[in-house]
Amino acid sequence: MTIKKICILGGGTAGWMTAAGLSNKYKNLDIEIELVESDQIGTVGVGEATLPHIRFFNNALGIDEREFMRETCATFKLGIEFCDWGRLGDSYIHPFGDYGEPINGVDFHHFWLRLLQNGHKNRLDDYSYPILAAEAGKFQHPGQDTSVIGSNFGYAYQFDSSLYAKFLRKYCEKNGVIRTEGKAIDTIIAPETGFVKSVTLENGGDIEADLFIDCSGFRGVLIEQALKTGYDDWSEWLPCNRAVAVPCEASGPGLPYTRATAREAGWQWRIPLQHRTGNGHVYWNEYISDDEAAHQLTSTLEGPILADVKQLYFKTGKRRKLWNKNVVAIGLSGGFLEPLESTSIHLIQEGITALIELFPDARCAVSDADEYNRRMDLNFDRVRDFLLLHYTATQRDDSEMWRYFRNMTLPESLIEKLEAWKARGYLPRYEQGVFLPPSWVAVMTGQNLIPNGFDVRANAMPLDDVLARTDHIKRASQDAVKQSASHDDYIKTFGAATSIMPLTAPTTPQFS
Ligand SMILES: Cc1cc2nc3c(=O)[nH]c(=O)nc-3n(C[C@H](O)[C@H](O)[C@H](O)COP(=O)(O)OP(=O)(O)OC[C@H]3O[C@@H](n4cnc5c(N)ncnc54)[C@H](O)[C@@H]3O)c2cc1C
Repeated sequence: MTIKKICILGGGTAGWMTAAGLSNKYKNLDIEIELVESDQIGTVGVGEATLPHIRFFNNALGIDEREFMRETCATFKLGIEFCDWGRLGDSYIHPFGDYGEPINGVDFHHFWLRLLQNGHKNRLDDYSYPILAAEAGKFQHPGQDTSVIGSNFGYAYQFDSSLYAKFLRKYCEKNGVIRTEGKAIDTIIAPETGFVKSVTLENGGDIEADLFIDCSGFRGVLIEQALKTGYDDWSEWLPCNRAVAVPCEASGPGLPYTRATAREAGWQWRIPLQHRTGNGHVYWNEYISDDEAAHQLTSTLEGPILADVKQLYFKTGKRRKLWNKNVVAIGLSGGFLEPLESTSIHLIQEGITALIELFPDARCAVSDADEYNRRMDLNFDRVRDFLLLHYTATQRDDSEMWRYFRNMTLPESLIEKLEAWKARGYLPRYEQGVFLPPSWVAVMTGQNLIPNGFDVRANAMPLDDVLARTDHIKRASQDAVKQSASHDDYIKTFGAATSIMPLTAPTTPQFS
């Protein structure tokens, strides 16, 4: 009953990451992996900013970081800068790393809150190496001793997604993955089990497999079109439903962070890569037309446009079951939450990890699927709440969209978290979920949601000692930044692309 054949439908970031993850783990087993993709359909063509966890994915594959940086025109990413979210004119960085360091086992932000209540004006940001380095346009790899200030941070990448897919394809083909060009036009379902038996390709032939991974993007060819799994629509909470995207020439120094600027009916991203800057405007079509959204985007670019503006349509939410029968949906086929915190590629990674841990036999036990769905549902819920925080922890009420968020009913899970924070700066830790307390602290304080109290244990130390300790952390963070190279120089010596890579042609619009 062991699985002998896996078919991955789709060769975007999700398809090739899945093929890489599975082929790495199963290369010495008697399991064939075939990936089907259609050049005629193409990929979604966005998805350039990541979270630090991708490094663990690449490391597990044995990928050399320099080669990866070169081949994907990647830059380093220390966090995301949010402009105009709390109030017009405000900005803050959500860093990949802790603020300061715990003192006597108590999280650092409680000591900062104590100082704040005693009239001290230091920014919480002043105790964060990744924020100070990002502001100075600098980067260095964290050292081995992660307890040292200047090493206690994470970092991610900003890369060209089409080049990442190509890079992984080479890796997969070395591991024996078979790549088939073709468009799936039909699916054969076994009547006795309801399992997908095979997919039929337009250019002829059926591909049979024991397990199918649906990486077909928003179409959800297997999970939805074939199995009719259903979709949990979260537009009520995250109503932005369209995006326009366009690359432009970069200008100025390459910044080691992504920028997300709030707009009247959505927000705009800026992702600096080695060879260009990626830009996009995510918006709610209820309050802005496609033309106006595109105009707002193209009129605020830093350099000449390098390709046609691409229009994208989506509905935030997730499939009712990400694993149904013998089909596992990974990537956009499984669900989509707007890319405000660069979470989609991370959710792909979570899906691959969970699948490897729960890898079934050919009967695909319902219990394995249930556990997979429970884990992935939690991951999606946590991301949804964190994204929603950005829209609701705000003083903005200058447009219809911002007024909508002021009057909405929040999910219970987010209400609980907000109440604990407001009372005493406490952040309950979730069983599952990518964003740890420092990320919540970043957005809440960055958007002016300052708690009324703090952990009483922060009062156990004399105020002068707190001042001395926090000043030391601040100076150590500043010193570490002084010693770091500029991000541009660091990339030049570490992983600069040897030539400017050609841009990929715009693909046709995708529909959910
Ligand atoms: C506006 C926007 C911005 C985003 N920004 C980010 C970001 O900054 N960070 C991040 O982590 N994520 C981001 N994402 C999400 C990210 O783009 C995706 O998670 C990622 O690209 C994976 O997409 P995919 O592989 O699931 O789908 P796709 O890229 O759409 O790939 C689908 C594949 O399936 C194939 N296919 C489809 N139908 C068939 C068929 N019938 N037969 C054969 N093959 C078929 C296609 O040819 C293609 O190869 C963003 C998404 C959007 C919409």
